[in-house]
Amino acid sequence: MNLESSLEKEFRLTPNQKLGLKKLKLETISDLLYYFPVRYGDFSKLSYIRELKKGDSVNIYATVKNIKARKTFKTRLTMTEATLEETSGDKIKAIWFSQPYISKMLSEGTTARFSGIIAENPSGLYITNPEFGEVSEIPLEKTGSLFEENSKESELAIFAVYRETKFITSKWIHHKIKKILSNKEFLENLKDPIPEKILKKYNLPSLKNSFFYLHLPKKHTQSEGAKKRFAFEEIFFIQLVKGIEKEKYAKSGAFIIDVEKEQQKKFEKFFPFELTNKQKESIEDIKKDFISGEPGSRLLEGDVGSGKTLVAMAASYFTVKTKPKNQSFGSLQVAYMAPTAILATQIFNEFKSTLKDENISIGLLTSKNVQKFPSKIKNNESTKISKKKLLDWVLNGEIKILIGTHSLISKNVFFENLGLVIIDEQHRFGKNQRAALRAKPNDKKEKMISGEITKSKKLPKKGLAENEDILPHLLSMTATPIPRTLALSIYGDLDLTIMDELPKGRKKVQTDVFIDNETERESVYKKAKEKLDEGRQMYIICPRISDPDPDKERTLNIKSAESTKKEIEKNINFKDYKVGLLHSKLGPEKKDNVMQDFLENKIQILVSTSVIEVGVSIKNATVMIIEGAERFGLSQLHQFRGRISRSSFTPYCFAFANTKNEDSLKRLNVFKKITDGFELAEYDLQFRGAGQILGTKQSGISDLAMEAIKNLKLVEAARNEAQKLTKNDKYKKEKDLVIKLKEIKKKIYLE
Ligand code: ADP
Ligand code: MG
Repeated sequence: MNLESSLEKEFRLTPNQKLGLKKLKLETISDLLYYFPVRYGDFSKLSYIRELKKGDSVNIYATVKNIKARKTFKTRLTMTEATLEETSGDKIKAIWFSQPYISKMLSEGTTARFSGIIAENPSGLYITNPEFGEVSEIPLEKTGSLFEENSKESELAIFAVYRETKFITSKWIHHKIKKILSNKEFLENLKDPIPEKILKKYNLPSLKNSFFYLHLPKKHTQSEGAKKRFAFEEIFFIQLVKGIEKEKYAKSGAFIIDVEKEQQKKFEKFFPFELTNKQKESIEDIKKDFISGEPGSRLLEGDVGSGKTLVAMAASYFTVKTKPKNQSFGSLQVAYMAPTAILATQIFNEFKSTLKDENISIGLLTSKNVQKFPSKIKNNESTKISKKKLLDWVLNGEIKILIGTHSLISKNVFFENLGLVIIDEQHRFGKNQRAALRAKPNDKKEKMISGEITKSKKLPKKGLAENEDILPHLLSMTATPIPRTLALSIYGDLDLTIMDELPKGRKKVQTDVFIDNETERESVYKKAKEKLDEGRQMYIICPRISDPDPDKERTLNIKSAESTKKEIEKNINFKDYKVGLLHSKLGPEKKDNVMQDFLENKIQILVSTSVIEVGVSIKNATVMIIEGAERFGLSQLHQFRGRISRSSFTPYCFAFANTKNEDSLKRLNVFKKITDGFELAEYDLQFRGAGQILGTKQSGISDLAMEAIKNLKLVEAARNEAQKLTKNDKYKKEKDLVIKLKEIKKKIYLE
């Protein structure tokens, strides 16, 4: 038997058990040993029957009064029922599902400790699937320290409880694991994938011990130690996989972009304001990447409105002011990809106006809009040109900065000397899209070999070949404030820069949360009208596009964008204003048109679903109403709110909650009070788990590691050790680690 042996081969399984194991995704010995207990039952803390409530997880001492097994009427499952009686005479029923052997193990008159969860059915409370351990007599003193004098008993004090499924009980899992861990040969051949030096350094138990500590602990400290080890192991291996990816990039060459002091000073003078400290620090981080000789891969994480575009612009400016290797002319190029046409256009305009006197040609490429700046005729304006022309100019290096949507990755776009790739709102792109943009130089090489494109005539043959092997630096940006520990864990292949500072003078969004009712609604509408009358614009965010068909579904009381638009148009407060509608079913072109109308103030109220998230800047929109706010995550709500905090007018956000659920209201209260995105994300991580922050997307990280991610030291340690090992492929010397890596690579899916 080894870790990879299949359970089917090692154990005699019934067809039903096979089904159960399949459902739990348990195939191999390794799967079973890495099946973490959901909790630990504790025999040392006791409850009294008269105190029990539904949902309690309890241990009681009782004697079995009667016990019998029967088949359930509908499902034909075996059900064992017993009456348990305490010395006090209090009784409770115990029910075991699909464990026919129970009635053979427990006979009438047996006294035992029972541990399980209290449930309720029409005939009253009962304890479900209790674990039990026989005792000879009920101790008189039922206290927490019950077993401490008696070492034999204390060994039984805690036990692992596993998630069950039909035909596979927690007890079954427990017994099988015990069996595996009593196999001497198996244990002797067990190899620890984590190098011993690392285990020692962080005082982590060996793999063998960890299995014992996790599944058969004698004390809680043991199970804690094991959990820490496995969490470390998981994050360590994620980091290794990412680190190896990163090392591959490092092996290809990079352009050295050495920024002169004067150049940087000049750049800072382009703006009428002082750069924030975090903007300056971020620029320094990027400059370090630029001179490292390896292609930098950096994630710039900054709250909405923290000024990431400026940092990206600095990086672009330094890049286009640099000549390619071995060349005394020409310059490096930049590709800047944004998720929507409207955002790409906005960024194009910002680059244009900031860099207008710098004699830098900038291109815009979206599916409908192709432009070049400056125009041949007017020096300070851009003109529409044909896509073919633009692409020629990108290929021959005349266009230095190309800004656009995912059109940038299309097959016919080639750069002459791509030095920097920028990806804005990176979470909006798939991993492959991001990689495709970065791999442009390779695409080009292929086309040149096949003769489909030819080398720029300007360039000498010599020296060029060298540059073709070079990969651009990468700057990826996101406004999703992910706590540092989580970001370090999931973005192991990127270096991280966090911008947790907003420019001075930004007004905080005045956020208010209301429980939805007529009076509150009327007063919110009045306030909104006031702001509209002052000339501002407003967003209304709804959790769904349209109302469900009343005949088909139970009509939920959730505001839809379509019906809200109709209501607002009829509402007397808003009779002077034009209302627009935005949602994902409109298609990219219509969506862009609506946003454009809103931008030009042709509509004043924009009713939208969550598609509004992305970083479009409409400074005049300073009011927001969020309907059904309980349906959105905190980070998402915060992103919405970010849309209205871009000007010097005080922004107002009114959130309507359609619930009386206390947890939801508490969360919304946090949204009202905390205005810093990172603080909110930290809160989400602590109280609701990482799934909330990452959204529904699968992060590929186990619940256990998610817990561990709250521990910054552990994450940093795992990351540091992994980085040391991936540098120059040192990890290849660790035999057992390499074996594990191969297995993992097959399994893990990371974002
Ligand atoms: P985001 O980080 O969300 O992409 P942007 O880069 O779009 O934010 O910046 C938001 C706004 O803040 C822009 O209008 C920009 O001009 C302004 N801004 C950026 N940096 C500063 C600064 N240091 N001081 C004042 N305003 C700034
Ligand atoms: Mg932005």
